[in-house]
Amino acid sequence: MRASQATVERAVHCSSIGLHSGVEVEMSLHPAPPGHGIRVRRTDVALGTGEIPCDLAHVVNDRLSTVVGNRHAVTVATVEHLMAALAGMGIDNAVVELDGPEIPAMDGSAAPFVDLIEQAGIEEQDAPRRAIRLRKPVIVDRGEASISMTPADAFSIDFRIEFDSPVIDRQEMSIAFANGAFVDDIAPARTFGFVDEVDRLREAGFALGASVDNAIAIDRQRVVNGDGLRFDDEFVRHKILDCVGDLYLAGAPILARIVAVRSGHAANHDLLRAMFADEDSWAWSEIPPAENGESVPAAMAAIG
Ligand SMILES: [Zn+2]
Repeated sequence: MRASQATVERAVHCSSIGLHSGVEVEMSLHPAPPGHGIRVRRTDVALGTGEIPCDLAHVVNDRLSTVVGNRHAVTVATVEHLMAALAGMGIDNAVVELDGPEIPAMDGSAAPFVDLIEQAGIEEQDAPRRAIRLRKPVIVDRGEASISMTPADAFSIDFRIEFDSPVIDRQEMSIAFANGAFVDDIAPARTFGFVDEVDRLREAGFALGASVDNAIAIDRQRVVNGDGLRFDDEFVRHKILDCVGDLYLAGAPILARIVAVRSGHAANHDLLRAMFADEDSWAWSEIPPAENGESVPAAMAAIG
């Protein structure tokens, strides 16, 4: 893990429709100073009302995607895939400029955002990076869904899903995010949906932009997408991607082992709320550089 904060080196740009809104959105990532965090700036609303920090305190809806909003009731939907890419690439500070109400869906995964960050370049900043070091277990149990975290020297996720669909069925994956594992194994996993639920979602104003171009479509026994799946277990990988993005709303990387069963956006956020509600459960931790120039989480010294 990088010991210094980082931002993007130069502005980069992408565009596509939003998964739920169906609206074409232009997005650009811009450098931001140390301590700034990740903030969205909508350019299509009244001046001075468009800035929204991408953090837990600004989550206003998490039923189908993670939506952040501010006191002017300006919102941005589906931030989780971009947040996952920023987390996976170790970007602490950035301005996300948008001219619409939702992050572009791109291909439904985080890979296009990883590519965008690589295209921008990563600039290390003259400020130490902080991590959240968990000090005791935190558990959210919602019956069918549960998610917990326990103290660890590095961030890892163990995720299990179970769907009443032969295409998904049961899938489980454990992953430690070292050596590019996020970029290779998680970022390309796409979001997914069931064809027989699309009409109901669209009547409710969701999934208006969803298609096989930005999601895996499941129709009873089969995957509709002509090219099939990117991984046999692409579904659980995408759930891990969502979890990485949702947990990055904590505002810093978390040193903990996550164990999730059928968890989704709401439970992911509840886990962070439970952690922040108990101030004995975590502490800030600086990430000192290791001797070989690379920093290692095990070398962290708790300062909180
Ligand atoms: Zn997702």
